[in-house]
Amino acid sequence: MGQKNIVIVGAGVAGLTTALLLSREGRYNIVVAAKHMPGDYDIEYASPWAGGNYMPVGAAGSKPAEYEKNTWAPLEDLARNRPEAGVHFQECHIYSRTKDANSATADWFNELLSPKAWFKDVVPDFRQLPQSSLSPDIKSATAFTSVCINTAIYLPWLVSQCLENGVVFKRATFSHINDAASSSLHKGRQVHLVVNCTGLGASKLGGVQDSTVVPARGQIVIVRNVAPNMLATSGTDDGSDEALYVMTRAAGGGTILGGCYQKGNSDPQVDPNLAVRIMKRAVETFPALTGGKGIEALDVIRHGVGLRPVREGGTRIEKERINGVWVVHNYGAGGAGYQNSYGCAQAAVRLVDEALGPSARL
Ligand code: FAD
Repeated sequence: MGQKNIVIVGAGVAGLTTALLLSREGRYNIVVAAKHMPGDYDIEYASPWAGGNYMPVGAAGSKPAEYEKNTWAPLEDLARNRPEAGVHFQECHIYSRTKDANSATADWFNELLSPKAWFKDVVPDFRQLPQSSLSPDIKSATAFTSVCINTAIYLPWLVSQCLENGVVFKRATFSHINDAASSSLHKGRQVHLVVNCTGLGASKLGGVQDSTVVPARGQIVIVRNVAPNMLATSGTDDGSDEALYVMTRAAGGGTILGGCYQKGNSDPQVDPNLAVRIMKRAVETFPALTGGKGIEALDVIRHGVGLRPVREGGTRIEKERINGVWVVHNYGAGGAGYQNSYGCAQAAVRLVDEALGPSARL
């Protein structure tokens, strides 16, 4: 039997990472078909808007934590050995404020804020910052070496790597997952399996229509100013769905100031008042951003809004037959799609191999 033909629906970080891993050994003919591709900026396409850094949030012992753990080594390798991927190391400081105990952001960041977080033995240089160095409203703070990904470089880099491995890219918009099994996508040959990496699209896509996938709106400001390190706090004084994080992207990608986590909100418009709060909080907490010159000295590149594809129970990595077609799902990564990308893709690849069996191997 010849090689099996696969269609991956979605060209966000989930679809592209899955395509990269599936194509590495030349075992499958792969087409990536998607409505949005790297280079596009659209409210339906989360990946370009991410910061994107590695700040694990999966609870110890959970599947999300396992996916995050398995993603560190590949990201570290890219930062160390592949400068053209647009990933660099950056020191990350996490501040836990006394007043945020039990707030929505503190719950979301529960693991991240813990001085005994599971990832303390995964990332380099994990340590608690001395209490004497913290302001009185900070309960505790940790620091570690993380990475920051310039998504404008990294997503096209993933495409290039896939192209080099023979993956074919096509624009397509599907109303039903079975439409992706059309032989017309594979030069008239049978499609043996579809990988569903549609992110938020999984809530509407026929045959899937996962009502547990909802948007969590994130608004950011990208500035030319450079931050000496990455920073996030357990909350803000501006409402429980607002957040404070700062990170400088690799290779001149600017600095991301965030943000918010507005569940159920899919407004694509920039909220100018929120933008001012984001900039104010960033500069107040991190005066070094503008050399002590206040928010007027921020040099704005652009404002942005993206929708995190949040799924109850975390990313869905499962296989099932839909109307006789094998489908492997990899969607619903919420605010962690980069930091769990390799772990999720590895799990999806295992399911593809299981579904297609040993005859799929050359
Ligand atoms: P998407 O990138 O949304 O891609 C979905 C793909 O499916 C697209 O190609 C789309 O066109 C296609 N598609 C959907 N429906 C159809 C259809 N019917 N037919 C054809 N194609 C379809 N994560 C981190 O790990 N670290 C961070 O620092 C971080 N920061 C973030 C900051 C913000 C402001 C936001 C918004 C997100 C952030 N995230 C971060 C989360 C991360 O961006 C997402 O988890 C990730 O991008 C999701 O990727 P995806 O491939 O699943 O979905």
